[in-house]
Amino acid sequence: MNNLIEKIKGSETIVITSHYSPDGDSIGSSTALYHALRSLNKEVYIIIDDVLPQNLKFLYNEVTINKSDDIKLQNYILVSLDCGDKSRLCCSQSIKENAESIINIDHHASNDSFGNINYVDSKASSTCELIYNIICAIDENLIDKKIGKCLYTGLITDTGNFMYSNATPSSFVMASNLINIGIDKQNIIENIYQSNPLNLVKLIGEVIGTLNVLEERIAYIQVTKEIMNKYNVDFNDIDGIVNYARDIFGVEVGILFKEKSPNEIKVSFRSKSYVNVNEIAGKFRGGGHKRASGCTINMSLNDAKEVVLRETIKYI
Ligand code: 5GP
Ligand code: MN
Repeated sequence: MNNLIEKIKGSETIVITSHYSPDGDSIGSSTALYHALRSLNKEVYIIIDDVLPQNLKFLYNEVTINKSDDIKLQNYILVSLDCGDKSRLCCSQSIKENAESIINIDHHASNDSFGNINYVDSKASSTCELIYNIICAIDENLIDKKIGKCLYTGLITDTGNFMYSNATPSSFVMASNLINIGIDKQNIIENIYQSNPLNLVKLIGEVIGTLNVLEERIAYIQVTKEIMNKYNVDFNDIDGIVNYARDIFGVEVGILFKEKSPNEIKVSFRSKSYVNVNEIAGKFRGGGHKRASGCTINMSLNDAKEVVLRETIKYI
């Protein structure tokens, strides 16, 4: 971690980016690092070329998140957060290519160490936990309530509120320290989980209606662009729906098929206790973690379902 901190300290301009389909950990770690670097008087930009989830507004309202075309950059380092491979980075090709160097901070099992400096720990609960370690190593006093709330968001969203096996003793120590600093835990929960728009809940009802169960161990649901348009909901706002499939009694793997366009199917995998869904997603050039992974398949919805289910069934 020392060379990473030296690199950051020695750089004037720092660009932060993360993966497509932003989530609590990518936005939480990006905004936390942004605030910390600003207080070190760095010139900092966050670039995410995707739609930001509504329920994370309470974090990104306090910073500016740019699109790649918004700014002209020179002499900068690029910090990649929560992203397993370079092709999933949510910024333009030229921003990736023109960076003086790339720092890759991540906890995906599938991370291929694409950075010039890599801080990758697949045992970490979240990228937010890694950012917490880095900020503490720079100066513990930098962590205030504003940074704490960003970090706590990634910690709870990636661990399912400490439910999953990636919530380790260090995750609880971090949570305890953030609560001691005075973060408003209830307010964070209310923003993330208890502010669902009515049309989102109605959409969930319809999506659950598509549920099928295979061999009593695999449950899958699907959502089409047409349904998303009908309820006026963005794909990046339906992060948790796949859990309904996984959480059925006896089911080990839950799968969500999102038909983003007729030939572009985004697949989300979640498992409960023994299937390594990172391996399954890897068969389709995707990746992620043992218990949560994803991939994109360029086939029709029915064809994508067939190939994915045929592969998944081998693992149960
Ligand atoms: P989700 O299903 O929420 O989109 O993603 C679950 C996990 O898998 C996240 O950690 C996400 O970063 C990762 N993931 C999702 N899709 C892909 C993909 O196409 N490639 C890789 N490498 N990881 C993915
Ligand atoms: Mn993460």
